[in-house]
Amino acid sequence: MGTKSREAIFGGRLHGARIRARAAREEVVLAVRKADRAEAEQWSLQLQTYGGPAQPSPTIGQCLNGGLGWLEVECLRCRTQASLPLDAIRRTRDTPIWKLEASLRCRNCATRRYRPPVKLVKLTAEREIERYALDRL
Ligand SMILES: [Zn+2]
Repeated sequence: MGTKSREAIFGGRLHGARIRARAAREEVVLAVRKADRAEAEQWSLQLQTYGGPAQPSPTIGQCLNGGLGWLEVECLRCRTQASLPLDAIRRTRDTPIWKLEASLRCRNCATRRYRPPVKLVKLTAEREIERYALDRL
């Protein structure tokens, strides 16, 4: 009697509660993704509109989670632009995007002594520039 009747009484509610718990978790995941996307877009627009400030910025992980997986950069000297895939950058996912700026150098116009710095331009969902003239991180 005991087990069976208890299951008959609560089984349906337990099952329902499990489904609701799972659905609520999925909502959180989607909400975080939406927030990551919004934050990355806001930072990127700020950069395009006002040229900065680049700090603070979202992290590599937040940009990827938000679906903005490409970072566009420009050489300050020769104006060459490049799209870098954030998922291939050898940094931990919690690295803020602004920190990448200092590690990037233009391969196009670099000399043995001087490797010109780059500036961050914007984040994009797709690769927008085919040319790849900048050093990987
Ligand atoms: Zn250059």
